[in-house]
Amino acid sequence: IFSAIAMAPRDPILGITEAFNADTNPGKINLGVGVYYDDNGKVPLLECVRKAEALLAEQFAPRTYLPIEGLAAYDKAVQELVFGADSAIIQEKRAVTVQAIGGTGALKIGADFLARFAPGAQVYISDPSWENHRALFEGAGFTVNNYAYYDAATRGVNFSAMMASLQAMPRGSVVVLHACCHNPTGADLSADQWGDVIKAVIDGGLIPFLDMAYQGFGAGIAQDGAVVSRFAAAGGPLLVSNSFSKSFSLYGERVGALSVVAASADEAARVLSQLKRVVRTNYSSPQIHGGKVVATVLTTPELRTLWEQELEGMRVRIREMRTQFVAKLKEKAPGQDFDFVREQVGMFSYSGLTKDQVEMLRKEHSIYAVDTGRICVAALNSKNIDVVIDAISKVL
Ligand code: PMP
Repeated sequence: IFSAIAMAPRDPILGITEAFNADTNPGKINLGVGVYYDDNGKVPLLECVRKAEALLAEQFAPRTYLPIEGLAAYDKAVQELVFGADSAIIQEKRAVTVQAIGGTGALKIGADFLARFAPGAQVYISDPSWENHRALFEGAGFTVNNYAYYDAATRGVNFSAMMASLQAMPRGSVVVLHACCHNPTGADLSADQWGDVIKAVIDGGLIPFLDMAYQGFGAGIAQDGAVVSRFAAAGGPLLVSNSFSKSFSLYGERVGALSVVAASADEAARVLSQLKRVVRTNYSSPQIHGGKVVATVLTTPELRTLWEQELEGMRVRIREMRTQFVAKLKEKAPGQDFDFVREQVGMFSYSGLTKDQVEMLRKEHSIYAVDTGRICVAALNSKNIDVVIDAISKVL
């Protein structure tokens, strides 16, 4: 039965890490990752997480199954974080939330749910997008199309082309939007542009699916979440996937959630019942530990404050790396304009490096980046940035 099976293509990003691990050069640097590293090049264990885990460890709680939709305190805390604590949508019980296995799991629940209730819909993702979006929605049975987004010439968003794409989508299409910190480009919409996008989505009868994997890495927790409340306030259906992989540095615990906004409390209850059905038939119920950690931090005032400070620390460090990257390249490679790197937000930058330059970086300097030129700015630090700048200036 397995003899005719062809080898599946390798994951492009994980392939870089495999090549990096195999490199024997002690000075090797991996900028191909999708993970935040601290200034010592380590994945941090946040202090707020450490403290929450200490509190939880003392409780010696039994490991019962969670409800299908996850821990109630977690789902409530997620709603307040994503929609804002005083959101009318929450008060009107129009939002329902299920705990999910990371942001990926949230997208998958949403995709399976939509496949059931909007089976013929076209799905649109940004060009380019997170590499798993297409596979995920295709896997759920959808035809996946691109909408115009990145403009290599300006290194920003081609907004008029994006608007034209939105306006051409058939009514009832699902449009996947990065709520903040666009992966892979780092190019985000302005608040005004979001206003136009929201209007086009509502006028066009589209189903918006906001993917928020980096809340707090852009301008701030509330600022980054603002687009979600703006969509929610505009009326119409809305799906929001969010992840705590990055913002809590809890990658391997797989903590995320899917929230859906319906037209009424009654409709929301019916939606929740169907989301639960998707969860039940996939993995029955989510894990307990990560959800408890996040819920504890978000609902304990001292830990919440600590988390906000630690997240700010990550955000500020990334911004500092962007500033240094631009300033140092200006010195080493005068005449090259990298100012756009400072305008980009979040962990990633479409650096403008070509595939050949990325290959030279890898072969000649043991510096690893994605072939598209995407670098993880959060993998730069005060110890490796000069080496990286020196190498980039040589391959330019
Ligand atoms: N969406 C985007 C845009 C992402 O970048 C990521 C993570 N790289 C995810 C979703 C998935 O998040 P998680 O790792 O929590 O599954």
